Amino acid sequence: MTKFTDLNLDKKVLKAVEEAGYEEPTPIQAGAIPPALEGRDVLGIAQTGTGKTASFTLPMITLLGRGRARARMPRSLVLAPTRELAAQVAENFDTYTKYTKLTKALLIGGVSFKEQDALIDRGVDVLIATPGRLLDHFERGKLLLTGVQVMVVDEADRMLDMGFIPDIERIFSLTPFTRQTLFFSATMAPEIERITNTFLSNPAKVEVARAATTNKNITQGVVMFKASRKDREGSEKRKLLRALIDSEGEMLTNAIIFCNRKSDVDITAKSLKKYGYDAAAIHGDLDQSHRMKTLDGFRDGSLKLLVASDVAARGLDIPNVSHVFNFDVPSHAEDYVHRIGRTGRAGRTGTAMMICVPRDEKNMDDIERLVEHAIPRLDNPMVATKEAPEASEEKTEEKPKRSRSRSRAKKSEEPKVEAEAEKAPAPAPEETSSEEQKPRRSRGGRGRNRDGGGGPTPMGMGDHMPTFIAKSFEERLADDAAA
Ligand code: AMP
Repeated sequence: MTKFTDLNLDKKVLKAVEEAGYEEPTPIQAGAIPPALEGRDVLGIAQTGTGKTASFTLPMITLLGRGRARARMPRSLVLAPTRELAAQVAENFDTYTKYTKLTKALLIGGVSFKEQDALIDRGVDVLIATPGRLLDHFERGKLLLTGVQVMVVDEADRMLDMGFIPDIERIFSLTPFTRQTLFFSATMAPEIERITNTFLSNPAKVEVARAATTNKNITQGVVMFKASRKDREGSEKRKLLRALIDSEGEMLTNAIIFCNRKSDVDITAKSLKKYGYDAAAIHGDLDQSHRMKTLDGFRDGSLKLLVASDVAARGLDIPNVSHVFNFDVPSHAEDYVHRIGRTGRAGRTGTAMMICVPRDEKNMDDIERLVEHAIPRLDNPMVATKEAPEASEEKTEEKPKRSRSRSRAKKSEEPKVEAEAEKAPAPAPEETSSEEQKPRRSRGGRGRNRDGGGGPTPMGMGDHMPTFIAKSFEERLADDAAA
């Protein structure tokens, strides 16, 4: 068994690692740290939760131990796809650089350029950035990348999903070709393979098992659900979600609820709040300080339910999540693995429940194929309690818990949630809309990924009328005729 002390890490780094309470390196750390310390390029195929962040931060800190930062010329660069992930990497650096004098700057959207410029001007050893923000600084003439000795690309597959590959290629070309590259991706899509073949030089390839697919600690289940009427689907799904949450009782200490679209993240969080649940939303359109505050609340236990989009939640390290709910079946099967991997971490048990409407059955099949097992079907708790949602329209959503004693509140509040749902224009997929998440097409390149169209399939059905809608319509006609 490899020990941290066998890895040739700087003593100051070892001390910080010891204080973090790590007993031994994880497989990605044991595999990636030695070649990284030898100055070799590393291609790490690992997802979040495997300890991959320390597998690049620890050798970087050791390598940067000697030498000093120069104004506007960072010595190393870490690129992460989202603000949250970049902030998480920065936190890791803070933990492990505790006993060193290394400096760092975090360049993410939502923070003023002025503050960030001041840090860069002073000179930093480690620059952590989202690709868009980094190029903004570069274009403003505030930053030189010619001093970069080590460059890390974290979550490259996510960068691909978000259309960042042209930006990454540009950034690679702005750094010296003599740099060392540490490149991490959960999967090796053909486009990722092309990039690594182009920009990495004889990398040490370190691959670790996909944690979540084999994580036996997570109890999974799916409720196959068909709304009584198409236009009631949203509200009936929210009612089902509440029933699922309630059915878990005290076993549910906290939960992340994933929706495919930002508009649904907002509506679901608002609806839960109206019904007296302790919930808040997090997605790419919310400003940075708001997102951080929400996440901090969830981490410290003061917020129970976090309603999130994939991009906002991807890779977030929150060790103690008892439940994950997939309000929607994710349209990329891999997102299922990432989503449920938010629970059952660090040897704990977890529960992952999903709602699947007929339209999502194809995506469900893809997920089951990917995880190589059937996801157990769960009974609909509303049917079990004879609360099937085919009641009259007014009864579609139960009355909010709070409003049982405050009926006026319900009248003015809940319809608003529903009205917003109806008003909402066909929303853009999450991946394409927040500031740093937009692909920068003007910089040339291919734009969206080839192998999946770059984001969830739009929910609109165009000219196609699925049979389940036609069927329920016919059923209603038959009912009308019988009446
Ligand atoms: P990551 O995959 O980088 O997101 O890390 C997931 C979690 O594992 C974080 O909470 C780390 O603090 C933790 N971690 C990293 N390395 C180790 C280790 N060697 N032993 C125990 N926990 C670790």
